[in-house]
Amino acid sequence: MKRAYRYRFIPTPQQESLLARTFGCVRFVYNSILAWRTDAFSNQGLKVGYTKANAMLSSMKKEPELDWLSDVSCVPLQQSLRHQQTAFKNFFEGRASHPTFKKKTHRQSAEFTRSAFKYRDGQLFMAKSKEPLRIRWSRELPGDPSTITISKDCSGRYFVSCLCEFEPKPMPVVAKTVGIDLGLKDLFITSDGFKSSNPQHLKRYEQRLALLQRRLSKKKKGSANRAKAKLKVAKLHAKIADCRMDATHKASRTLINENQVVCLENLTVKNMVKNPKLAKHIADANWGELGRQLQYKALWAGRTVVKIDRWYPSSKRCSCCGHTLDHLSLSVRSWRCPECSIEHDRDINAAQNIKAAGLAVLACGA
Ligand SMILES: [Zn+2]
Repeated sequence: MKRAYRYRFIPTPQQESLLARTFGCVRFVYNSILAWRTDAFSNQGLKVGYTKANAMLSSMKKEPELDWLSDVSCVPLQQSLRHQQTAFKNFFEGRASHPTFKKKTHRQSAEFTRSAFKYRDGQLFMAKSKEPLRIRWSRELPGDPSTITISKDCSGRYFVSCLCEFEPKPMPVVAKTVGIDLGLKDLFITSDGFKSSNPQHLKRYEQRLALLQRRLSKKKKGSANRAKAKLKVAKLHAKIADCRMDATHKASRTLINENQVVCLENLTVKNMVKNPKLAKHIADANWGELGRQLQYKALWAGRTVVKIDRWYPSSKRCSCCGHTLDHLSLSVRSWRCPECSIEHDRDINAAQNIKAAGLAVLACGA
């Protein structure tokens, strides 16, 4: 199995300039070839594959006015065309929308394969740079990486992500199954009755963010002060995203460590709540990412994640006797079942129903 290990690093001034040129060339090549491909398709109905796109890159590099393309390693340029190929494949097979142009103001990245970097004595060197990358090795790299991706986020931080072969170690089997209900008051509620609470990262920084954005909007376009104000906004966004990710990782880790089987609703069902007022809170809750993390962490640990695909009246159904209420308003947090007169906490009851549905799915082998 392959796994990416990501580290922060601080480039030297030379590396910073080399990376800035590399990112620029990657963007230029990606965008020019994307425009060319799109034109060829819409004007002549021609489908351009990777081989043709790569040949186009070679002829671009021969043009005298584009000789600066040869200043940087050609591997990231070719890799960006591979990524474009995948993007087109996903588009043609209906999984994604049409590939879009890369923007200078977004996150920048460049992928290096083995011929364009060296990993020696615990040090990582990229092509055309003599000094090793000054990496903060927050954990050990398990072996030689096969690919590295260097990126710079909007707040100016540099990261290197190393793709390595790794051997997952299954965790000892535990006899415990849990159902989880995703919510906003609590990010998740388990069938055991645990309520996670919601740290509300966005809300915590909302005022500060609004202030910084207001200041940014008053700066003159193209001025140095505008760039500074923009960086401040980007740094705060990065901080919020980091806090959110950290909380999601901790939650998924605990759920996988403590349970052999984790059952949850299919997230697209939850996302169908198209309430514009809730949209930002739903985004802040990071449900999609929680589902993704549970899935891969379960795979590594030898545990199971069951997603309940079918829409299911989990809140309205009594988890004891199966009696289903006709209506349960959102404001009702607890209710008593008219059939078996058990008092239910709304969310815990939903989580218990999800657990039961998950076990049913497992029993059917579906
Ligand atoms: Zn009941």
